[in-house]
Amino acid sequence: MDSRRRSLLLAAPAAVLVFAGMRTAQAQAKVSEDDPAGKALGYKEDASKVDRSKFKTYAPGQTCANCKFYVTKDPKAPMAPCTPLGGRLVMGKGWCAAWVKA
Ligand code: SF4
Repeated sequence: MDSRRRSLLLAAPAAVLVFAGMRTAQAQAKVSEDDPAGKALGYKEDASKVDRSKFKTYAPGQTCANCKFYVTKDPKAPMAPCTPLGGRLVMGKGWCAAWVKA
């Protein structure tokens, strides 16, 4: 096997791993309060900071940790992926207007 072919064979799996890593990092990125999608839903990392004049559906006690879209088997996880926010991480003590009781 010539060296160029060997290089290509070694580079292909590495490229796949890099791409997979990029996708994982993107899916696991944390949602910031400045994120456009999060902002549109009034997402706050701390539910007690929700603007209740704008988001009247909020009720004390509602948090990401008890929302059905908080994707984790551990309800005490400090962060977990959120389905409506593209699988990105949200804070367990956070809240947004898409909240639905788990
Ligand atoms: Fe939190 Fe649920 Fe809103 Fe996602 S949909 S940010 S888990 S309240």
